[in-house]
Amino acid sequence: MRIARYECEGRTRYGVVDPERGEILEIAGTPFDGVETTGDPRRIEEVRLLAPAVPGKIVAVGLNYKDHARELGMELPEEPLLFLKAPSALIGPGGEIVYPPQSRRVDYEAELAVVIGRVAKRVTEKDAAAHILGYTCINDVTARDLQQKDGQFARSKGFDTFAPLGPWIVTDFEPTEAPVRCLVNGEVRQDGNTREMIASVYRLVEYISSNMTLFPGDVIATGTPPGVGSLRVGDAVTVEVGGIGELANRVVA
Ligand code: MG
Repeated sequence: MRIARYECEGRTRYGVVDPERGEILEIAGTPFDGVETTGDPRRIEEVRLLAPAVPGKIVAVGLNYKDHARELGMELPEEPLLFLKAPSALIGPGGEIVYPPQSRRVDYEAELAVVIGRVAKRVTEKDAAAHILGYTCINDVTARDLQQKDGQFARSKGFDTFAPLGPWIVTDFEPTEAPVRCLVNGEVRQDGNTREMIASVYRLVEYISSNMTLFPGDVIATGTPPGVGSLRVGDAVTVEVGGIGELANRVVA
């Protein structure tokens, strides 16, 4: 099932996408309380898709693919390296990434995103799947020069619009072997696979939930494969995860 969040006639709601018919059916309430649809279907092009979750926090993982650590010239961490991205940085599919004047180098990072469905506190790897609502795409946009200058990640990864998320949450998705790609102006820049992750999705839920409680709607950005590079104003950037879909955004000044 594909769960989207969208705006239609001035109202924001969740819905179930039917890709074959090109339709979306409204969900009564939120998908965290069970999915019950209501009303008449809408054509998907009649609505505006939004970021499919409203996380209290976005927990991101640094250096979770060996070859990406190598390209940055960094040592592999002994345990997953966590940082937080500001929820105020979220934008949806089609939203604009604003290039901040403070930075001279803004990079894309294509990643698989996990959306939490049930409160998770000290959950084991074995039980992790039951706490996950589903999966979507995230672009962990990063002002690389400021990340290096600050030593901390809050500013460089927290600018407004630096967390494109979407296009929808796929609930029946196998996270252990999925292609993760980034295209800039149609050219493939990253072409990885989640099987190359150092810590699996389920291990990440165990590790993160042993440090902080995860709540419904919270998002985990699971790290980026090799091939990161910079964006320029005017670029069209697309994150693709096989089995989920495409998250397309444009960079503006
Ligand atoms: Mg990242």
